[in-house]
Amino acid sequence: MNNFSPNMLKTFKECPKKYYYKYVQKISVPQKSTPFEKGKKIHALANYYLRGDDISKLEKTLTKDELYIWELLKSNEYFQKTYVNSEYNLSCKIKDFWAGGRLDALVKDGNHYYILDYKTGSIPKNPEFDYQTMIYLLAADKFLTDCEMLTFVYIDLKNNTNYKIDLTDERKKQYADFIWQSCENIKKEINFMQNQQNCKYCEYNKLCC
Ligand code: SF4
Repeated sequence: MNNFSPNMLKTFKECPKKYYYKYVQKISVPQKSTPFEKGKKIHALANYYLRGDDISKLEKTLTKDELYIWELLKSNEYFQKTYVNSEYNLSCKIKDFWAGGRLDALVKDGNHYYILDYKTGSIPKNPEFDYQTMIYLLAADKFLTDCEMLTFVYIDLKNNTNYKIDLTDERKKQYADFIWQSCENIKKEINFMQNQQNCKYCEYNKLCC
């Protein structure tokens, strides 16, 4: 396997054994879906809206809480910029590995491009070095030939704030090295050791010995 997503790298960092269950053995374990439902709905709605679809009927199905969040996103300053694409799959090659994922949205203001990521829960604890930030910025940078500036924006809908990360030359190199090293670690891992610090909330803990 030489093609990695942010979730794969994050899972391996949490626990190599969990990575083994999920991505090598491909064992699916049911998870409590409730906390993710709101996020899924908002993401789907945002995608239809940005594509120019009529969402008036869908808006009527939202709960009061969902509608409040949706209005926050709709009025966000970055959501008003020129639409380029949404639910957009992008990948890039980092030495002998591929890394990629699906961006919530890509918008622009002239030749300044913005990757938007909406969060109905919390944004990552270390956003500059989150796998999603690094991989999406590297992938978009390789793909956008007319890009003069590229920024990742976490739209934090819980606190109604934006967290911005610009891709600088220094970060580009740092990110590529970091991602390559993370992929290399997975490749080298033979036994997929357990990291028992994260067992309490792990969906595989009933089958893990
Ligand atoms: S239960 Fe613990 S050791 Fe097993 S996969 Fe999950 S986090 Fe890793």
